[in-house]
Amino acid sequence: MKRGPDRRLAEAWDRAGLRGPLRESVLEPFLAGVLADDRQESSDTFVRLLVRSFALGAPGVPAAGIGALPAQLADTARRAGAGIRLSHRVTATRRHGRGWRVEVDGADAIESRDVVVATGLTPGLDVPLPRARGLQTWWFATDERHNDDAALRVDGLRRGPIVHTAIVSNTAPTYAPRGQHLVEATVVLPSEATEADVRRQLTELWGTDARPWRLLRRDDIAAALPAQDPPLRLRRPVRLGDGRYVAGDHRDTASIQGALVSGQRAAEAVLQGRGQR
Ligand SMILES: Cc1cc2nc3c(=O)[nH]c(=O)nc-3n(C[C@H](O)[C@H](O)[C@H](O)COP(=O)(O)OP(=O)(O)OC[C@H]3O[C@@H](n4cnc5c(N)ncnc54)[C@H](O)[C@@H]3O)c2cc1C
Repeated sequence: MKRGPDRRLAEAWDRAGLRGPLRESVLEPFLAGVLADDRQESSDTFVRLLVRSFALGAPGVPAAGIGALPAQLADTARRAGAGIRLSHRVTATRRHGRGWRVEVDGADAIESRDVVVATGLTPGLDVPLPRARGLQTWWFATDERHNDDAALRVDGLRRGPIVHTAIVSNTAPTYAPRGQHLVEATVVLPSEATEADVRRQLTELWGTDARPWRLLRRDDIAAALPAQDPPLRLRRPVRLGDGRYVAGDHRDTASIQGALVSGQRAAEAVLQGRGQR
């Protein structure tokens, strides 16, 4: 962990003398897509942690899609006796005797001794949330395999709204429609990018005409990640102080890893709370 005061990334890089093509053509667009921050406002300390993970780890995606991760957690929980109901939107949590009443849209309320709110950055359940940052991902299918490059491509010349693009099916062939190839293009929100802007930049980045590619979908995720402003506060409290608990990446680091760690901390806090009753 870095010692000394934390700063905005742009300021920390200025002070470190980091400038030129490495900064402008590689680090800025790459990190913009990872942090959903195109202005280098994020915490330098957080970015150091992140870059360390990239340097030590091997990036990848589950063959069955990212849903494989919660499915695996759910299997373990069910085997331990947990009941899981999907597609039930919680509208409120209210004090009820010595426990809680969890109100569910279109279904009976659930009474419970403890409640852990793990609803991401969605407001509405009276939980303090940090500012969110957004990402937009465009998904295209192509008939031709333009190359076998599995690397993420960034635009060092910043010729358009795309901060990175990849032929995802070169890493995960199961993600593409049958017999086709899948290309993603990521843009930081807010953005006024049009489909024509995106196709134009993809043509430049891949050196092949992207106009015939089939647009499969566009995901606009306004609350993709919690802002990681300096000074970085790792390990925010998971106890809400009103008898409820909270889990999510906004309690630890803005990542799947952070969300998992916060879940473990919330579970430990619940058990500790029960032990004290
Ligand atoms: C495009 C994109 C790419 C990313 N890539 C990576 C990556 O490569 N690596 C990485 O580590 N992180 C990545 N992230 C970030 C990662 O997805 C998040 O950090 C992580 O999902 C946060 O987990 P969470 O449990 O806090 O919240 P979420 O994953 O948002 O889960 C919250 C859940 O609560 C549900 N919910 C919300 N409101 C209610 C309600 N009222 N009632 C019931 N349920 C509700 C939601 O439907 C959701 O399922 C990416 C994010 C995006 C958007």
